[in-house]
Amino acid sequence: MSNQSNEIEVSNNGDFSGEMSNSGLIITQSSKPLPEGVTLPLYMDNHATTQMDPRVLEAMLPFFTGKFGNAASRNHAFGWEAEEAVENSRQQIAKLIGATAKEIIFTSGATESNNLAIKGIAEMYRERGNHIITQQTEHKAVLDTCKRLEKYGFNVTYLPVQADGLISIEDLRNAIVTEGPNKTILVSIMFANNEIGVIQPVAEIGKLCHEHGIIFHTDAVQAVGKVPVDVQAMNIDVLSLTGHKLYGPKGCGALYVRRRNPRVQIQAQIDGGGHERGMRSGTLNVPGIVGLGKACEIAGEEMAAESARLIELRDYMKNKFEAALDYVHVNGNMEHHLPGNLNMSFVYVEGESLLMGINDIAVSSGSACTSATLEPSYVLKALGLGDDVAHSSIRFGLGRFNTKAEVDYVSDKLIDVVLKLRELSPLYEMVKEGIDLTKIEWAAH
Ligand SMILES: *Cc1c(COP(=O)(O)O)cnc(C)c1O
Repeated sequence: MSNQSNEIEVSNNGDFSGEMSNSGLIITQSSKPLPEGVTLPLYMDNHATTQMDPRVLEAMLPFFTGKFGNAASRNHAFGWEAEEAVENSRQQIAKLIGATAKEIIFTSGATESNNLAIKGIAEMYRERGNHIITQQTEHKAVLDTCKRLEKYGFNVTYLPVQADGLISIEDLRNAIVTEGPNKTILVSIMFANNEIGVIQPVAEIGKLCHEHGIIFHTDAVQAVGKVPVDVQAMNIDVLSLTGHKLYGPKGCGALYVRRRNPRVQIQAQIDGGGHERGMRSGTLNVPGIVGLGKACEIAGEEMAAESARLIELRDYMKNKFEAALDYVHVNGNMEHHLPGNLNMSFVYVEGESLLMGINDIAVSSGSACTSATLEPSYVLKALGLGDDVAHSSIRFGLGRFNTKAEVDYVSDKLIDVVLKLRELSPLYEMVKEGIDLTKIEWAAH
């Protein structure tokens, strides 16, 4: 993936020892047994997806076989049974976010929810104005949808974020256009960021939007079921969520669409049988919907205790890194933050070597593989991080099934790898010797 000359060999588990050879860096293994309760590979990437909770699977299973009816079949018991299960799920989802059941529209996931919300509002309210506001660290499902709308003639403002990852309300206020053909019709700002875990000032954004009669959509995928979300108190008009980020099934999501104060209308993007109040046609994925509802119910019941547990684990991990290593820092505002997220930069180590050194641990790096090259994360770049620091960043996504023993294993192993890599890093040596790297003129080659 890159043209680095170092070679790293790692196998399954245990500690590393590094040595230089003619062919570069070779990391070898010692055969230390795994701690009690730790198995490899180890999953700590819960912002990418989550393991389905067994209680969710149990709720879903009957709807694959015996209870297989089409929820749109109005004239027999099979249909009624499926419809009842779907309505129950709507209630469960609505309860978690302070909505009513009628305001929940089922989709295939949050990518579709974001597309439906943004394109559907743009199309429906085009007469009112031409301007949409979003921000630079949104998920691609929002950014690319907005880019598409630009091609169709809409004007989109992509607000920058501050160094801590939060948007400035002042910037938002200044971006709003209140009259003329370029009037702002929609603000789409995510609730919580999937890379750096920061929680945007959603209630303030909602209030500002409502003062100006602008529709407020939020991609709340990472927040729903993790932190309190209340569409009434926060003046949210449209909200995207998805099952597989909260221990539910993949391929099933929802869009909340406000029905009063104001009543939001959305132009369907998939035409057909007129399901979901005409907003999203297609036979409902009944087992998936049942699972999504159950996942929301569990998340609501367990949120307080679970978020306290995750905050403790996350801070414990952060403290371990900071105690053992210099030149590490967290990315994103830690006060307005998801419980299970920790994004840290391990400066002066090469990102790829770092990841290869922990290749039996599933985490995400500050790099994204785009067409064979390794690009630094656009989210970290928006915070002002340089390419090298972005590449040496790691996102830990702690979730329901992670344990203290796992956190210890991951942090110990990472510390070990960083220390070994830095021993071999000329940059780190220079920094330790007090050489200002910014003043060095590197020879061209
Ligand atoms: C995962 C994710 C999505 C996409 O959800 P899918 O259901 O996988 O399409 C959208 N937004 C955010 C913030 C996400 O983390």
